Amino acid sequence: MAIDFEKVYDVAVVGAGPAGLTAALYCGRAGFDTLVLEKLSPGGQMATTNEIENYPGFPGVTDGFTLAMNMSAQAEQFGVKQDYAEVTALRVEDDIKLLDTAMGTIRARSVILAPGAAPRLLGLPNENALRGKGVSYCATCDGAFYRKKTVAVIGGGDTAAADAVFLSSLCEKVYLVHRRDTLRASKSYTAKLDKPNIEYVWDSVVEEILENGRVCGIRVRNVKTNETREIELQGLFIAVGNIPATDFVRGAVELDANGYFTAGEDTKTNLPGVFAAGDCRKKPLRQIVTAAADGAVAAYAAEEYLS
Ligand code: NAP
Repeated sequence: MAIDFEKVYDVAVVGAGPAGLTAALYCGRAGFDTLVLEKLSPGGQMATTNEIENYPGFPGVTDGFTLAMNMSAQAEQFGVKQDYAEVTALRVEDDIKLLDTAMGTIRARSVILAPGAAPRLLGLPNENALRGKGVSYCATCDGAFYRKKTVAVIGGGDTAAADAVFLSSLCEKVYLVHRRDTLRASKSYTAKLDKPNIEYVWDSVVEEILENGRVCGIRVRNVKTNETREIELQGLFIAVGNIPATDFVRGAVELDANGYFTAGEDTKTNLPGVFAAGDCRKKPLRQIVTAAADGAVAAYAAEEYLS
């Protein structure tokens, strides 16, 4: 256990995605006693991305898991401690920030919040029960289970497009179901969608996940004609965006109506000494590179605050 519940850390970082790990690297390098807390595994959503070709310094393609491990190792080189713990609340007492976890309360002079975001659910009644039985939110993690099978990807953003391309190399057939007739995804992703085994299902929403203990199909409704259609398939990959993982500080740190930290580009929240970095912050572009940049800015702001 790397956590010392007795001491007061200079900086506690919540979340070990690209924002949190970059913040930790900068804080460690600045000589601050820095602790990173992660509830699952390093990398956040980045670690579930199979091919990353837009993070500078890696010509060709790298994968998110490798990038996450490298970021984690690089932070450790500068003395950063990392441990697994789910932070459930943030409190402030006499300038000291208290982070509650099931194992105890961690104390720090400043906190960088980088909890990232979690996949948004479609909200269908049996969706949760079928998780791992045909319903997935991560094509890179689960795609291999659907080799030579038929799957659908739901969504029209970069994630849905990237998932459809990735799955088309494994699966017999990929339906791309989108609620409108144009994708939101950027050109660099849509350009790769021209594959013989990808079929678009436009203007359509999933009304029901059909099951026999496992997913065996979906019923989709065309929102323009109101006609419904059943599609037989074995895998359903839901890629309809993300929800910021900020509930644990709701009421303590200012959030906007969608749950994103209102902190601006300087990453400063409404609480002095508490900073927000990465996908959890209100911002126009959510990429690994912008998360990492936020992490560096948050570390700089923490350094300014601590000195
Ligand atoms: P997103 O851009 O928010 O797109 C979500 C998609 O799901 C949209 O097409 C939306 O439809 C659809 N949708 C939302 N709610 C829905 C519902 N209830 N039912 C059906 N469809 C629904 O999410 P994302 O694709 O996960 O991307 C999130 C961020 O990560 C973006 O900023 C993206 O650029 C970034 N990203 C970056 C990379 C990379 O850098 N390599 C890779 C993947 C993602 P509408 O279009 O109609 O709103």
